[in-house]
Amino acid sequence: DVVVVGSANLDLVIEVSRLPRTGETILGDAVGRFAGGKGLNQALASARTGGRTRFCACVGDDPAGDFLQDLLIAGGVAGAMLRTDTAPTGTAHVFTLHDSDNSIVVASGANGTLSAEDVTSAVSGARVVLAQLEVPLPSVAAGLSAARAAGALTLLNAAPAHPDALALLTDVDVLIVNETESDELGGIERLQAAGAAAVVRTLGGDGVEVHRAGRPPVFVEAFRVDVVDTTGAGDAFCGALAAALASGAVLEEAVVRGAAAGAIVAGSLGANTGALTPDAVDALMSA
Ligand code: ADP
Repeated sequence: DVVVVGSANLDLVIEVSRLPRTGETILGDAVGRFAGGKGLNQALASARTGGRTRFCACVGDDPAGDFLQDLLIAGGVAGAMLRTDTAPTGTAHVFTLHDSDNSIVVASGANGTLSAEDVTSAVSGARVVLAQLEVPLPSVAAGLSAARAAGALTLLNAAPAHPDALALLTDVDVLIVNETESDELGGIERLQAAGAAAVVRTLGGDGVEVHRAGRPPVFVEAFRVDVVDTTGAGDAFCGALAAALASGAVLEEAVVRGAAAGAIVAGSLGANTGALTPDAVDALMSA
């Protein structure tokens, strides 16, 4: 099994022609409700690319939590998220300007209550554990360490980049970062020195690099797609990578599957697209 540990958010998206000034109220256009949070996106991507997937996350005891839970079940993610009555479901308010630039405010809500105990018990029995940094770092650290001790393969997507992430890397088999995160954390060599056995750096439409100590870096090209919306490409990459590793693929093969999933999501609208299926990944890889 893949166990994804991370955030689940309700994304409320409003299209605006400009941002409001302080104290001002403006009218927006279309409003949309979407599932989001890197954890949720990655759990869905793992399930949608064929991985048997569980998701360790916490949402509120509220309709937003129900909405996200239903969506995960429909997407093939097993089990129920934790519920808390002490905080509402994490919520992101996204203002989209002319369909291109975004301004986003996130209230973490229930994501902030995911405890070390919650994560430690959720990772038990996993073959692959995949985490990001949108839930409390001590909980992520406890989960990675428990997973490592139990013999699972540990994956960390250090997003959003946080300097304290370096301290987690001794328990990480595969670290996944994009160019910004890699730079913010001090670069590939530093990440390797901090203990990550392998560092996978994604370069958007320019492909992926795999860095392992004592070996020359391996470069994997991006698949060519007509780009529609790159939101969630990195999450799809991580989820598909985890699913492939859980099915027994070696890292280089799994990275190719991740790249195919990233390309499919970049070629369709929204982070959680129904276009992401095992067949779509296979088709793109054999095209
Ligand atoms: P993030 O969303 O975290 O910044 P990237 O943009 O690097 O992550 O995307 C992750 C992976 O998804 C890339 O390495 C690539 O394989 C794939 N991908 C992303 N954007 C594109 C694109 N425009 N065309 C093809 N593949 C893409």
